[in-house]
Amino acid sequence: MNAVGSDICICDWCGRPYLPSDKGVYIAVLNHWYCKECFYEWAAQATWYPQDADVERKNFSFYAPRLGVKCQ
Ligand SMILES: [Zn+2]
Repeated sequence: MNAVGSDICICDWCGRPYLPSDKGVYIAVLNHWYCKECFYEWAAQATWYPQDADVERKNFSFYAPRLGVKCQ
């Protein structure tokens, strides 16, 4: 959340507030940030659909440089 300049971090699933220093996961296909607990719950039952790849790629490309992620 520090990477996007947010002062308050709210999990997009459970709605709980978190400190900017807390760890969570950005899910590009949903364009959501989840706390770790919600991410693992979501990941256990999530299904990847090929038709979502363009949206996932677009969202990832927007946030990757802000998060310091380098892709080849
Ligand atoms: Zn959560």
